[in-house]
Formats: sequence, C-alpha cells, structure tokens
Amino acid sequence: MTKITLGIIGGGQLGSMLATAAKKLKIKTIIFSDDSNSPGQIFSDEFVSGDYNDLSKIKEFTSKVDLITFEFENIPYETLKKLNDLKKVIPKPEINKIIQNRLSEKDFLNSLGIKTTDYKFIQNQEDIKKNSNLIPGILKTCTLGYDGKGQYKINKLDEIEKLKINFQQKYILEKLVNLKKEISVIITRFGKQKYEIYEPIENEHSDQILKFSKIPAKIDQTIINNSKDAAKKISEELDYVGTLCVEYFIDNNDNLYVNEVAPRVHNSGHLTINSHNISQFENHIRAVCNLEKKETKKIFNAEMINLIGEDILLYKNKKLNENEFFFDYKKKDVKPKRKMGHLTILKD
Ligand code: ADP
Ligand code: MG
Repeated sequence: MTKITLGIIGGGQLGSMLATAAKKLKIKTIIFSDDSNSPGQIFSDEFVSGDYNDLSKIKEFTSKVDLITFEFENIPYETLKKLNDLKKVIPKPEINKIIQNRLSEKDFLNSLGIKTTDYKFIQNQEDIKKNSNLIPGILKTCTLGYDGKGQYKINKLDEIEKLKINFQQKYILEKLVNLKKEISVIITRFGKQKYEIYEPIENEHSDQILKFSKIPAKIDQTIINNSKDAAKKISEELDYVGTLCVEYFIDNNDNLYVNEVAPRVHNSGHLTINSHNISQFENHIRAVCNLEKKETKKIFNAEMINLIGEDILLYKNKKLNENEFFFDYKKKDVKPKRKMGHLTILKD
C-alpha cells in the first residue's frame, strides 16, 4: 500500500481528532491553520501556519500532501478551488459553496423535498417587516455563523430597531420552532449508495451551543427512519465523500425539519469514539483516503457532555470512573463559550 499524506485545513478540536484517527490508520497528517497556536499541531505529524488566502502558504501546504480535507466548512470557496487545482479536496469544494450559505443550503434541501423551517432572504429592515409572519423568529447571517454567532432572536417586530442589525451582511429570517427535541444524524458516504450511518443522536443546546448528546435518542421509529433517509438522500445528491452531519428539529407535533447540514465531522458525533467500533473521524479518514469501508457497529450506548469555558478546570485532575472518557482539546486560553473539551460516559 502506498503511504498517504493527508492535509487537513483547520487545527481546532475536529482537526485534532481527525489527525488522531488518521494516526491509528498509519496515515500521515499535515494541518494547515491560520492560528499559529491551534492545538491541532500537537496531534498532527506536521503543521503549517498561515493566512488562508496566502498563495505561498497554500503552495507550501499542498506541496507536502497527497490530498486535502477540512475540519470546518467556512473556508472561502475561492481558496478551496485554488487548493483543489493543486491537490484534490474531499469533500469537493462545490458542496461547500452550497452549504456555506444558509440561503442556498435551505433552497437546496427544499428542492429535494426535505422540509426546513420557513425562511426568507433578508437585506434590510423593510424585508423583516414584510415577513412578519416569521416572527417570533431568528435572524441569521447567511454565512460564517457557528455556535449561535451572527444570530438575532426577534420576538416582536418593534424590537428590530434596538437590535442594531448590521445590514452590510445578508441574512435569512427563520421562524422560531417550538422545539420538542433536537437530533442529528451522522453519515459517512464512501461512494454511490455506499455508506455507514450512525443512529440518530439526541442533542441539547444551551445558549445555542451544544451542551449534551446521547444515544439512543428517545424518538419514535418513524422519526428514526425519516431522519436517516433524509441524510442518505442529502449525501447522495451532493455526491458527498466523507462524514457529514444533518441537524434536525422536532416540533411539538412531531414534525421533522432539517436545521442545517455540516459537511464535516460534528460535535454531536464525539461519542462515537467510545460507543462504536469505528468513530465518525475514522470513517471520514477511511472514506476520503479511499480505504476499506468496514461495517460500523454500536458497542455501547453513551452520553457526551461538552466542557465549555471553565467547565474544563473541574476535569483536568479528576479521577474518572471506568466508563468515563475525558478529552482535553488543549486550547491555550480558557474563554467563556469556548469548547474546551468533552466527557463521554458509556452506558449499558
Ligand atoms: P449554528 O450554525 O450556530 O450551529 P444553528 O442554526 O444550528 O446555528 O442554531 C443553533 C441552535 O439555536 C440550534 O441548535 C437551536 O437550538 C437554536 N435554533 C436555531 N434556529 C432555531 C429556530 N428556527 N427555532 C428554534 N430554535 C432554533
Ligand atoms: Mg447548528
């Protein structure tokens, strides 16, 4: 077997966990990040630090790798295309172009007959007023949001002046869903109709940041089937290769809506490291590096708690039970709302 060197763009916790999974498969990794302090360098074999638009850095990085994948979807499309001209980027950049923008992402999902929340494109205050049927709602920047960043909750129309919305950016306004539950489905697609799919994961957010995940999700069989089917359809239609996550809302009437698609490994899938024979990270590496697809099986039920900000301090020196697994992302500074680590607890 020829040795593969995999380039990973982004050096946060997802890049670190991808590098760790690659190491297990004897694949060399080089992480490229615009943050010279990023923890990924501790876990990868090599590290290149530079601006994502710096062509000389892009060339340095691509000269060292055989193919490229990424830990986050918000890399500028132009950069991904430039990289892809030099070495193959998997999943392919055209997918990011659709998913990076909440408007084209939702248009794409609805074109497949997959339900999302009601939404409208918003460029100014007038547009909000014209779509008052979507209030209470959430205004979200079309691009670059994560962990609730770039979002404004609008309870009443007369609040919008106070919110001081920056209309230099483009938005969508989304109707607020009365959430009964949130779930996610993680799928790794290896090629046409070839995939491994994990059972739905139940998720709890606090302040729009994922706080807690568990399997099995307490949902009925119809929702299990429908959420898995939609994830398969989305990955097929995108001709996706690698691990992808679909986040869903379930409302009080048991309607299932796709919230968003993450064309990458996902925080809710961290428990797969311990609960399954093959994690979402290993499956991603297997798919993008064209390695053998192995049947993925659950070994344990599990829960995962995200350690956000100072939560991590409690765990650094804590004695753990046999069924508990602590992950320290080794980020330099503890900051509020920053994901610092997680704890997975295996269940029977
Ligand atoms: P991000 O890209 O920051 O993850 P999301 O759109 O997934 O943004 O929103 C983060 C969280 O905020 C969701 O998981 C959910 O808990 C809540 N949220 C977002 N949009 C809505 C909505 N339309 N109705 C109800 N809750 C929502
Ligand atoms: Mg989300």
